[in-house]
Amino acid sequence: MKHPALKMVDLQRQYAALKTEMDAALQEVLNASVYLKGAVGRQFEQELSQYLGVQHVIACANGTDALTLALMALDLRPGAEVIVPDFTFIASAESIAFLGLKPVFAPCNPRTFLMEPEAVKKLLTPATKAIVPVHLFGQCANMEGMMKLAKEHHLYVIEDNAQSLGSDYHFSDGKTAKAGTMGHIGTTSFFPSKNLGCYGDGGAVFSNDEKLAQRIRSLANHGMSAPYTHDSIGMNSRLDELQAAVLRVKLPHLQQFNQARQTVATLYDEALQHINALTLPGRVPDSTHVFHQYTLRLEKREDLRAYLNERGIPAMIYYPIPLHAQKAFEKLECNRVIETHEICNSVLSLPMHPNLTTEEIHYITSTINDFFAL
Ligand SMILES: *Cc1c(COP(=O)(O)O)cnc(C)c1O
Repeated sequence: MKHPALKMVDLQRQYAALKTEMDAALQEVLNASVYLKGAVGRQFEQELSQYLGVQHVIACANGTDALTLALMALDLRPGAEVIVPDFTFIASAESIAFLGLKPVFAPCNPRTFLMEPEAVKKLLTPATKAIVPVHLFGQCANMEGMMKLAKEHHLYVIEDNAQSLGSDYHFSDGKTAKAGTMGHIGTTSFFPSKNLGCYGDGGAVFSNDEKLAQRIRSLANHGMSAPYTHDSIGMNSRLDELQAAVLRVKLPHLQQFNQARQTVATLYDEALQHINALTLPGRVPDSTHVFHQYTLRLEKREDLRAYLNERGIPAMIYYPIPLHAQKAFEKLECNRVIETHEICNSVLSLPMHPNLTTEEIHYITSTINDFFAL
């Protein structure tokens, strides 16, 4: 028997729950017929900066542009080295290479999937100018360690926070900060399936540094400093008003969405923890986990995946190939991180979104239990 409607991410259900509010917000934009550079976008930037506790938020066209803008703002020389995890979505390193900088790939902890300061330290050279910790799958990299290292070695830190918006980081002195607000610059994506997603493409850059923020705002707008006066070669990267309206409706619910994801994760943990063949997602002590993904590790990944698929349960491989092994980076002669293959060959992500029902979670976990009882 196939279970009816399981999806990795169910955006239809989320829309249904927000429909009245969402339709009204979109209608308002249509009535005003201001589609770019309008008041809705500015309001969203303000509300997000307040939520995150960061001084500047610059909305842009997508998370990849956000990373590109952040790196452009640093004005690094061609060939400058930027350390980035070997296990992440391509955009984290693509933006580096796109600007003529050199990605240097760092190994990740196979239990938490995060790049660690000790690994970064081993890769430092006189050419290293920046590091890009990625808060992968929903929890923060060790930002206390990253910032300490950055200070010692005069490096910029850009947090790729496309997957952990709303996560809280706890410093050893008791202070806390939202993911994406601790480095010199933070970036995020509002791709529809992200924890805070719009209805198309969107992204944002965060900073507490006034100068960097000004520069990023100008770079996102053709390097413009005053009307039709251009100080640098920039981009055209903006969030449109319809997307901003969607995000303004969703932002007040983000915390509750993230809590719902945590509940799903806890139920998965409880139902699967006794299966010795599975490694459950490791949680780090200094960050909350907002479970963008719930990612298992196991040897018989393909068998389990096929078994689940046959029973109407999707499961995805994020990510199948280490970045260092991607053809796209071949010509750059980047360093190889052999141990990433072991992660790539064993990960399997289960359906994860705030609208999963207890019954569905039970169906998923009991099917996994059945597989291992065979
Ligand atoms: C989604 C994602 C991006 C890119 O965001 P887009 O909006 O798709 O351009 C960058 N980094 C990570 C880790 C992501 O998951």
